[in-house]
This record gives sequence, C-alpha cells and structure tokens, in this order.
Amino acid sequence: MKNLLIYSLLFIAFKTFASSTLNTDSLKSKDPIIVHIDLTAVVEDKVPVTVNPGRFELDSIIYRLPKVIPGTYTISNFGRFIEGLKAFDYSGKELEVNQIDLNSWSIKNATELDKIKYLVNDTFDQEVVGGLGNEIPFSPAGTNIEEDVFVLNLHGFVGYFDSLKNNEYVLDIKSPATFTRSSAIKHSALKSGPIGRTITTTYKVPRYFEIMDNPMMFGNIDVEEFKVGNITVGLSVYSPNKIHSASSIKETIFEMMQAQKDYLGELNTTARYDIFLFLSTMGEGAPKGFGALEHHKSTVVVYPESLPAQALATSMTDVVSHEFFHIVSPLTLHSEDVHYFDYASPTFSKHLWLYEGVTEYFSDHFQISKGLIDEANFYSAMLNKINTSRSFDDIMSFTEMSENVLESNYSKNYLNVYQKGALIGMCLDILLREESEGNRSLLSLIKELSMKYGINKPFEDDKLIDEIIRITYPSIGDFFNTHVIGNTPIDYDVFFNKVGLTKKESKIETNFVMNDGAVIFKSDTEKQVIRFNGLVKDNSFWNDQGVLPEDIVKEFNGELVDMEKAQQQFMKLYMLQPGAEIEMKLERDGEEIIIKTTAEQSYTTGVTLIPDENATKDQIDLRNSWLKG
Ligand SMILES: [Zn+2]
Repeated sequence: MKNLLIYSLLFIAFKTFASSTLNTDSLKSKDPIIVHIDLTAVVEDKVPVTVNPGRFELDSIIYRLPKVIPGTYTISNFGRFIEGLKAFDYSGKELEVNQIDLNSWSIKNATELDKIKYLVNDTFDQEVVGGLGNEIPFSPAGTNIEEDVFVLNLHGFVGYFDSLKNNEYVLDIKSPATFTRSSAIKHSALKSGPIGRTITTTYKVPRYFEIMDNPMMFGNIDVEEFKVGNITVGLSVYSPNKIHSASSIKETIFEMMQAQKDYLGELNTTARYDIFLFLSTMGEGAPKGFGALEHHKSTVVVYPESLPAQALATSMTDVVSHEFFHIVSPLTLHSEDVHYFDYASPTFSKHLWLYEGVTEYFSDHFQISKGLIDEANFYSAMLNKINTSRSFDDIMSFTEMSENVLESNYSKNYLNVYQKGALIGMCLDILLREESEGNRSLLSLIKELSMKYGINKPFEDDKLIDEIIRITYPSIGDFFNTHVIGNTPIDYDVFFNKVGLTKKESKIETNFVMNDGAVIFKSDTEKQVIRFNGLVKDNSFWNDQGVLPEDIVKEFNGELVDMEKAQQQFMKLYMLQPGAEIEMKLERDGEEIIIKTTAEQSYTTGVTLIPDENATKDQIDLRNSWLKG
C-alpha cells in the first residue's frame, strides 16, 4: 500500500494515532461456499449477502470477517460493518448465533446450518475523521455502497470459516443491467433477470485469499483497456463530476508501465493488470484516505477528484508504480507470515524495509533509470524522503518496528517505511553496485531471491538477512546490522559522496502547506486549534503576507478550521494553485487578522544535490551505474 505523501504528512502534523485465537477448526466439507451479493436490493446503503457453505460435520463453527488484511499494517475490523447476521437450518428455522468478537460469530448446531444472511454497511460512509489510524479501513481497502457506484473490496462483504479458507468460492453478484462491471478476474457465467433489468455475474475463486485479492468496481464507471507489451491493462475510473476519465489518464499509465516492464525485465509475471481509480469529492460519505493498496493482479487507488490533471498524473505515476512493483515483493518474494496470513490475528514479518521500502525505492529509481524524470528530480525525491523521515523516530530498529507494527509506539512510525525504508533501499543499491563494480544491484539481488523463493515458496523470516549477507558482501552485513536491525541513524552524506554528489543550498519552489517536505503547521491540542509553526518564516508566500509563527488559523476560504477535519481542509490548501483567490482568518494574541489575496508561487530555501566538480572517475562511474542501471 502507499499513502499520498502530503496526506500522511498532514496526518502526522495534526493527529496522534488511536490505539487499540480462537482456532476452532470445523470440518472438512469440500463443497464450494456459495455467496450471493445483491446490489439491486440496497436499503439505507446496506447490501444483503447470503453465504451458503456445504454440510458441516462439527457441532459448532465460527464465521469471520477479516480483522487485518494483507498489505495493510493497521486493524480494519471488517466485522464492524456487518449487521443482523442470522443463520438458518435446512428447514428455514433460525439457529443460535453468538457474536464472540467484533469480527467473529459462533454458530451452534452447525450440522444443520444451511445458510447465513446479513447486511453489509460501507466503510467510506464512516470515514468522518480521516482515513488512517482510527481503525476505519484505509480507503483503498474499504467499500462503497452508493446508487451509482460500488467499490467491491470483497473482504468487506464476504467472510470465511476457519477450516474452509481453502475451499472454492462461487460468487454471484446481482446488479442493475445498466452498470459497467469491472473486475480483474473473468466471470464464469452471466444471467439476465426476468425483464432484463438486472444481471447476475458469477465468479469462481479457488480460496478465500482470492476473494481478498480481487477487488471489483461496479456502476457508472469509465473503463479503458490497452496493451503494454504482453500485459493487458484495465483502467477503471469513477469521477463523480466527470472531471477526469480513463482516456485522459491512459497515456500516463501506458508510459509508466512500459518503463516498469523494461526495468523489471524477465521478472514481470502477470498477464493482466487492473487499476481501479476512485476519485473522491472529499464530502460527506466520500473516502478520505488517499493512496492505494496492492494486489497480485490489480490495485485500488483513491484520490481527491479536485487534483488538477497534472498533479493526478504525477500522483498516479508515484503510487500506481509502487503498487505494480509490489508484484515483486511481497506478492512474489515474502516470508511465511505473509504466506500463511492469519486474517484474525496476524503475525508480522521483520521485513517492511523490503516489502514497502524497496518497493518504494524502485518506484523512484525506475523513473530515473528509464528517463521519465531527470537527475535533479530524482535527487530531490531522495532528499525529500530524508527530510520527511526526520518526522519519525530515527533510532528505532526497522526490523523491530516491522514485527510489532500494530502496537501504538511502533505504528506511529509505520509511515517511515515509505521514507527511511526507501532510503535503506537506496543505500543498499549504491553499496551493491560499489562492491560489484557495477555488476550487481538491488534489483539483481531481488531477482536472485525471487528465483529461489516465489509466490508459492516463502522464505523463513528470521533467516533472510543472513542469507542476503551470505550471498553478497560483508559491508552489506555491516549495513543491516548497524542501520536496519540496529538503531544507528544513516549518514546519507557518506552514500552521496560514494557517487560523487555534494550538497548546495538554493531557492526552491514549495507550496502553501510545506517547505521542502516539512509541514509548516502544527496542532495545539490544549487549545484545540491549528497554528503556523516556526517554519512559516521560510515560506515566501506566507512570510510576504506578514504571517508569524504561532498564528492560529481560524478560517480558510470561508470554512471554519476544525481539528477533526484539518487533514481534509489543509489538503485543499495544498492543492491550491498560484492565481487562485485565498482568504484566511488568523488570530494573533486575541486579535483577528484577515489575509485576502491572490495566491502566488511560494519559495523556500532548501538543499539540493549536485555533481561534485572534484569527483574521481570511480565516483562518476558508480553514479552512472546507479542512475542508468
Ligand atoms: Zn506498498
């Protein structure tokens, strides 16, 4: 998964994170589990679902919805969105059901169980506060039930019986015939309703994991299909106000995936890849957790609809390329914790540096390697990650954080996997190229490991780093032991020096919310207000308007600023373009100050990386290997 960076930064600035096994194996029915989801019978945004398993042989069984799903590192509790769960026997009589926790229901006399019925509420509706940390599923993992569009992250609709996770599922989805139906898996049957107003689409998947791994989008959506080499790409877009379309985004995705395929070489595996893009109005009932979640053959992306076309294109390149690279890890290369994922009480792998960090690094590195961006852009992306990583605990062991990621003192640092995690990838890449005189790289190492392990062959979590050290160099071992397992901060200058780069201060473009990766606002939890912080002096636009540190932001463009909604409100400020009107009401020492002006490009002083004029040939060779390899 990946969060839209600015959204994460605002979250860090304004919020503190909220915090927060049974294995009653049932029986051995080999029958498929038949599920009906009726999108034509929605009442108050709730969808009726019927689950019909085969005959059980045990007296008591447990039906669960996932507490956590793979690729996310927070608690989702999809059981909370289920209402009125009832079980019926073969004569239609109700069986006794006891809810044993948020996500699990125990059913007595299971030998008599014919079917289970319940209603599903959507998660997007409940995103009042924000997309992260409040145990509301991250939007790209969530569900939407609305007249004109359904986001079918199926793990929000369909559960599992502990011992039947490997049984086949037959899934019937009934929808209005006018809907466009988009899915990464092919349907096995189609049936029209009696007067042609509805259509029932049947899908078959071999096990519960594939229910989770195959999201769908049904409704008034816009779909384009195109080829990138031998991969068929499906791009499904929901833009409620028709601001963006699949055809307007297609070119960006094509160029990006072409470059990714080139970069991966023989590593790319899938024949079809689907991108489901849901654009949010950010209003009530609309999703507010921006970013994406990966699957083997698809990704679900949620962004604000109001992003200008260019910003949407850049964000799609950053985030969708990240999700596509997840095909390499963790989807192909992963540990046993990921392979035997326990949806009710998962254990976590030590290797978020690999799953999220290396993935994120590749999503930047392929862009310079394949010429989508220039050197200055790539350096600024790396420097930005260094700046942003400073918002997190730099002396926390990465492997320890990873293994305990659901616990609050570690979960607060989770988002650093996209910052420091990627920088760990950068350092490993430079070291591997240096040691091998340009013959090996991080990508070639990951390829080696992917050959040995794979989709069906997990590695042992505790042995991976030792194995990497064994097949590489002692310096790689030192790096892991000191900076990934150990808690010593990385001195990035050492690595920039290896590739003959040096730092220089200069004037750089920024926006109205940040200076070069650092947010210029803070929350005052005591007074329940948002203030400018000390960095505002270095933001040319606000400085020119006479804004001072500690000024309270009372109103922005006519809207009262509210702690609960600050993350969304400041997203709007972030997206503001030079030339737009801006009106802000501030408070300083009890006095009201009004700023009413036209927004102008803002600048700040930042550090840039430039080639060192005195670099040796070895340093330049290593830099060329790094940037062009
Ligand atoms: Zn990710």
